[in-house]
Amino acid sequence: MPGLDDLYQQLILDHYRNRRNQGSLPDPTVQVRHHNPLCGDDLTLELLIEDGRVVEVRHDGDGCSISQAAASMMSEAVAGRTLPEALELVEHFRLVMHGDEEPDEDRLGDAIALEGVARYPVRVKCALLSWMALKDAIQTHSGERTEPVPTGE
Ligand code: ZN
Repeated sequence: MPGLDDLYQQLILDHYRNRRNQGSLPDPTVQVRHHNPLCGDDLTLELLIEDGRVVEVRHDGDGCSISQAAASMMSEAVAGRTLPEALELVEHFRLVMHGDEEPDEDRLGDAIALEGVARYPVRVKCALLSWMALKDAIQTHSGERTEPVPTGE
């Protein structure tokens, strides 16, 4: 992908070739499957949630290098975070991908390498797929709890 910083390209390739946290969990708290019809990316995301915290993340599926690398990077960035922190991170990443916020490397980790993808609107959905799946998984999980479910969504 021309125009992406070389170092960032290397990071994306590295995550694509050696996907972190790829696979499935024996007993996930929540599982979602998301699809990006524009590119054909397909992703299954599983979370193990304990005490309001994302303890384990696993992803599996098929798709382009951007979507696969993004899932790997997301899994590292979110592991260990509380659910509100994870949702905040999703929102931050979404804003970065739409060019509306400066990337915060401390929170994004390697996912900062996807920053340049914001210049390729067609690929933004690839980069966002796993992050939107994460948001969906957390909201699905929260909806199953005894707390009041937010309405109007
Ligand atoms: Zn894709």
